[in-house]
Amino acid sequence: MRDPRYDILFTPVQIGPVVAKNRFFQVPHCNGMGHAMPLAHAAMREAKAEGGWAVVSTEECEIHPSSDLTPYVEARLWDDRDIPALALMCDKVHAHGALAALELTHNGPVASNLYSREVLLAPSHQPAKYGYPSQARAMTLGDIRDYRRWHRAAALRGKRAGMDIIYVYAAHDISLAMHFLQRRRNQRSDEYGGPLENRVRLLRELLEDTKDAVGDRCAVALRFATEEFLGPAGVELAEAEDIVGMLAELPDLWDVNVAAWCNDSVPSRFAKEGAQEPFVAFVKKLTSKPVVGVGRFTSPDTMVSQIRRGVLDLIGCARPSIADPFLPRKVEEGRNDDIRECIGCNICVSGDNTISPIRCTQNPSMGEEWRKDWHPERIAPARSDARILVVGAGPAGLEAARALGERGYAVTLAEARKELGGRVTREARLPGLAEWARVRDWRVGQIRKLPNVDVYRDSTLTGEDVLGFEARHVLLATGCRWRRDGYGRSNGSAIPGFVDCARIFTLDDLMDGRLPDGRVVVFDDDGFYYGSVAAELLHGQGCEVTLLTPDDIIAPWSQHTLDYRHIRKRMAGLGIDVMVSQNIVEFAGAELTIEDVWAPQRRILACDAVVAVTARLPNDDLYQGLLRRQRDWADAGIRTLRCIGDAEAPGLIAHAVYAGHRYAREMEEPATDDIPFKRHFHTARALDILLPRDR
Ligand code: ADP
Ligand code: SF4
Repeated sequence: MRDPRYDILFTPVQIGPVVAKNRFFQVPHCNGMGHAMPLAHAAMREAKAEGGWAVVSTEECEIHPSSDLTPYVEARLWDDRDIPALALMCDKVHAHGALAALELTHNGPVASNLYSREVLLAPSHQPAKYGYPSQARAMTLGDIRDYRRWHRAAALRGKRAGMDIIYVYAAHDISLAMHFLQRRRNQRSDEYGGPLENRVRLLRELLEDTKDAVGDRCAVALRFATEEFLGPAGVELAEAEDIVGMLAELPDLWDVNVAAWCNDSVPSRFAKEGAQEPFVAFVKKLTSKPVVGVGRFTSPDTMVSQIRRGVLDLIGCARPSIADPFLPRKVEEGRNDDIRECIGCNICVSGDNTISPIRCTQNPSMGEEWRKDWHPERIAPARSDARILVVGAGPAGLEAARALGERGYAVTLAEARKELGGRVTREARLPGLAEWARVRDWRVGQIRKLPNVDVYRDSTLTGEDVLGFEARHVLLATGCRWRRDGYGRSNGSAIPGFVDCARIFTLDDLMDGRLPDGRVVVFDDDGFYYGSVAAELLHGQGCEVTLLTPDDIIAPWSQHTLDYRHIRKRMAGLGIDVMVSQNIVEFAGAELTIEDVWAPQRRILACDAVVAVTARLPNDDLYQGLLRRQRDWADAGIRTLRCIGDAEAPGLIAHAVYAGHRYAREMEEPATDDIPFKRHFHTARALDILLPRDR
């Protein structure tokens, strides 16, 4: 069983009228399912409760149509009809002895009201935060009374749903309770504006209202941002200390972090485990109430250290609980090696930001608990004693081999290189991406425990090898390579001067240690992290780097993963030249001809080498060759041949892991119909209509 060093993580904590059975606290996190997909949402939360988290929270929960977050899909408690969806979650969470927590919010000028068409509310007149072409109006004293009434009513509904902890939310710069604290958002001259006591008044009232409404049975938590990194315009540490001092004993629990979300959920490229400690450690000195905080904690030793050193009482996790819903159980059962550690890639965050259900690179079952019945820790046993050959030990092949092995199949995994991990091993060597290797490490560690999975390194398989292997099922997960010719989103054919030019480099070259020197243009027509990572690498090698992109901003997709601001600051900090809205026309000699994508204006840049980050090509020669020999399969005993992951269609690491997992789950299982998952429907009953019998 568990190492006694970790006993402290399993001591109960009194939070107001309720008791958390241990110190593992899943803090609120968005998931893109929210009120629209309550069954999927409840099942996802249930997995955490089953996995041992003492507290399982919702995401932010809208309390009123004037805080309508459309198009984002969060929780909702506008009226009593929203109670059942959250009651469902509470029942599922309670079934495993965990507490359910509800994060109530009114987002004021950070809402959209695109659906409700209400006028946005704010402490003072101001533009909507997210660039909508409208403003929020200053709340009257009557509005403030209404807001308090809505918040109280939502708290009562939360209690009726079965919630054990009700949050007042003043964090992330996305809720009115915080906006009243901020000088830049609150320019009022009445009792709610001006000196700090006035700016804190509303937050105090909300806490008092909530305690009064539900405090007999529910704990009242305050989620509070201690630092916004905006100077005096925002909440700053010094002022945060005053605020905590003023409200110290009022909430039953302090949940503390930094704002905005991009500073809270920082990708691992820009912040490591426990990075928030300097900004939240003071809180416990000012209150006797328990304190929870986050820091992408995946190491039980770090967690113990936080508690022993008096930084936190409860270990708050969003991402670590997404990557491994069973993290607490694994520590409890002395299985720390089995913890699937979050890699800090923020693909989970991209679900919310792209308004789609949550996905996780490390945990392919995340978001699939209900719709595909994928349990994060259980998988159906093998249906036969079939031998399965997996070619390629990147994320797709490793996950397929691991999950097939867990099912009990006899698996052989063959990898051409000496090292396992494919792209994650190679990318993890690039600046800031070291944690990507956790995708490999967890899977290799699990495979080592499976006697029915054989791994062969340094084994490049040919079509002949595959046919001679006598496997019933063959899976090709042979990855992809970066294109060298410039073809991509912005160029439908090769860029003149690129083909056969020794001074065109790809990310594969860089990862293989073949680096350019001198004046280097990184041409990013991909739009995610690779371009800026290449620029950073080459800058570190002494190159004079320009990051050039046909997009109007660099790395546009990184906005979905909260990388964007950090990338911009990193590029600016390193002095890397950034050129946007520029395409490449030609590379000749030491001259790169570029053209503005919006105007026929060309320029010539002096340039010694170009790194092309445009598109990738599957390594599917083996697959194509075997397809051509399909008539030989039966003799070779092969029933199925599949090609997945980057070898099928290059994508994110998350896509490759999912593809490997799906392959294993579906192996020899009955075929599903054309839609391979359950969906939420607006049934006739829910729509309150009667369908004629013949329809
Ligand atoms: P994915 O992301 O789809 O898993 P990767 O590129 O990360 O793809 O991994 C593919 C792996 O397959 C690489 O480690 C590569 O060395 C290996 N590989 C490619 N072709 C062969 C082959 N013919 N035989 C064995 N391994 C191969
Ligand atoms: Fe961690 Fe990435 Fe999974 Fe999010 S998607 S929980 S950051 S591994």
